[in-house]
Amino acid sequence: MSANAYNPLDEHHQSSLEDNSTSYSSDENEQTWISWFCTLKGNEFFCEVDEEYIQDDFNLSGLSSMIPYYDYALDMILDIESPNGSKLTEQQHELVESAAELLYGLIHARYILSNRGMISMLEKYKQNHFGRCPRVACNNQSCLPVGTSDVFRTATLKIFCPSCQVLNIYSLCLNYFKSIL
Ligand SMILES: [Zn+2]
Repeated sequence: MSANAYNPLDEHHQSSLEDNSTSYSSDENEQTWISWFCTLKGNEFFCEVDEEYIQDDFNLSGLSSMIPYYDYALDMILDIESPNGSKLTEQQHELVESAAELLYGLIHARYILSNRGMISMLEKYKQNHFGRCPRVACNNQSCLPVGTSDVFRTATLKIFCPSCQVLNIYSLCLNYFKSIL
């Protein structure tokens, strides 16, 4: 490892580096994979899962059979350099990257049911990270994200307004606009 190489044990995880590329390069910044992933466009609804939670095998039970390259993907999420990681071809590396994203989504779904996860999501709700209801009567009510299936890739995320109780409020508005245009 060169002097400039990323050290996963480095405590300086708080980096303000804005990286909009779709590939994570641990050598170029000190940001953790998790905080990098959560800042990507389209991932705004994810909170940062505690590494401690991920390190507890109990919390991940059953996931290894659902994810290809599970061990590599888990190492990537936790910024651990796999001893065999350098032996992967570029194509395999890409597969590990998408496996890590999938795995993070599954871990996140469990995490937000835990106390700490709920607190994280509550914070995001209070900070209006999930958007506001566009209906006038709802008076800028903050919305909530809702997953409607436990089986991944079977349903998309929906946005719920606690005021008017409408699920998928944005698709409702879209249909409304389609009908009047
Ligand atoms: Zn509403």
